[in-house]
Amino acid sequence: MQGLPPNTPYKRNARPEFWQLSMRCCQLAGSVDVAFFFIFLFLDSPILAWINVISVTMYVCAYRAFKRRRNLLAFRLIQTEVLVHVGLGTVLIGWDSGFHYYLLMFVPALFVTMQARSAWILAACLWSYYAGLHVLMWYIEPLQPIPSNALLGVNIFNLTVVFFMFSYLALFYVITVTRAHNSLSQMATTDSLTGLLNRRQMIALTEKLLARHNRRPTNLTLMLMDIDHFKQINDRHGHDVGDRVLTAVSRLFQSLMREQDFIGRWGGEEFLAVLPDTNLEQAAETAERIRNTIQAMRLDSADTKVGVTLSIGITQYRAEEALSTAIARADLALYKGKSAGRNRVEAVQA
Ligand code: GH3
Ligand code: MG
Ligand code: MG
Repeated sequence: MQGLPPNTPYKRNARPEFWQLSMRCCQLAGSVDVAFFFIFLFLDSPILAWINVISVTMYVCAYRAFKRRRNLLAFRLIQTEVLVHVGLGTVLIGWDSGFHYYLLMFVPALFVTMQARSAWILAACLWSYYAGLHVLMWYIEPLQPIPSNALLGVNIFNLTVVFFMFSYLALFYVITVTRAHNSLSQMATTDSLTGLLNRRQMIALTEKLLARHNRRPTNLTLMLMDIDHFKQINDRHGHDVGDRVLTAVSRLFQSLMREQDFIGRWGGEEFLAVLPDTNLEQAAETAERIRNTIQAMRLDSADTKVGVTLSIGITQYRAEEALSTAIARADLALYKGKSAGRNRVEAVQA
C-alpha cells in the first residue's frame, strides 16, 4: 500500500469515516454494557454485572483514544474488551446467552482496518476462538447459570444489538460508497477551478446531443468564447487574479445560459457552449448579451479593478458532420473576431 510504512498491518490513515463509525459503536457498546450492568444485578449475577463496569470503562478509554486519534490503541482496547467479555459471558452463563454473536462484528472490522494478509490471519484466529468456545461449552456446564427465561431474554437482547450494529454498518458502507462515487464522478466530469463541465464531458454530452440531432434535426448552435489578452491579466495582476477572473466569468456564463444549454471549459481561457433549439440569430443575441455582461464586469484586485473582454465565434451544427468540423468552424469565427480587434461576436455560416 502506498504511503504506509512497510510492515504496518494497520491502515492508520485509511478510511477516516470508519474510525468515526467506530467511535459511534463505542458509545453504543458502552450504553449496552451499562444496561447489562443493571440486567445482571437484577438477575443476581454480580460477577457479570461488575465485568460490565470494567467494559464500560474500557469503552470510555477507547472513545477518548479515538478522539486523540490514537486509533490503534482504541481498536486494541475494543478488541480485548469484546474477546474477554464474550469468553467470560459464555463460560459463566452459557452458549445460549448469544454473547458470541459479537465476535462476528470483528470480521468486517478486521478487513477495513488492516491489510488483507493480517486480516486473514486474525480472521482465522477469531474463527478458532469462536469454534473453540462453542466446543468448550458443548462439554462443560455454565459456571453461573441464570434462569432459562432470563437466558432467552439475554440472547434476544444480544441478537438485537448485533442485528442493529450490522444494519448500521451496512448502511454506513452504502452511504460512504455512494458519496465516494458521487465525488469521483464530479471530479471526472467538471473542471475543478470553474465548476463548469470539463472538455471530456462536453464532448460526451455534445456527441449524445448530436446523435439525437442527426435523427431529428433541429437548430443547434455552438459558441466558442475566448478571453481577450488573458495572458496580460496574469502578467499584470498575477496568476491568482487570473484564476479569479476565470471563476467569475464562468459564474456569469452559467447565470446567462438557459436550462437546456450547456457550457464547459474547453481550454485554459476558452469556453464552449452548446445551445439546442437555437438558430444563428438567436445565438448571436445571446452571445452579445454575454459579451456585454463580461465587458461590464469588474473584479477587485489589490488597489485596482480588473476587467476583461471576450471574443465569441458562433456557428450552427450541420446534420451528419463531425463535432470537430463544427468546432473548427466556430474556431474560425472566433479567429475572425480576434483579427477584427477582439471583444466581438462573429458568426460563420454552416
Ligand atoms: P488572445 O486575446 O489572443 O486570446 O490572447 P490571450 O493572452 O488570451 O491568449 P494566449 O493563448 O496567448 O494566453 C492564454 C493564457 O491563459 C496563457 C495561460 O497562462 C493562461 N491560462 C491558461 N489557463 C489558466 C488558468 O487556469 N489560470 C490562469 N490564471 N491562467 C491560465
Ligand atoms: Mg485568449
Ligand atoms: Mg485561448
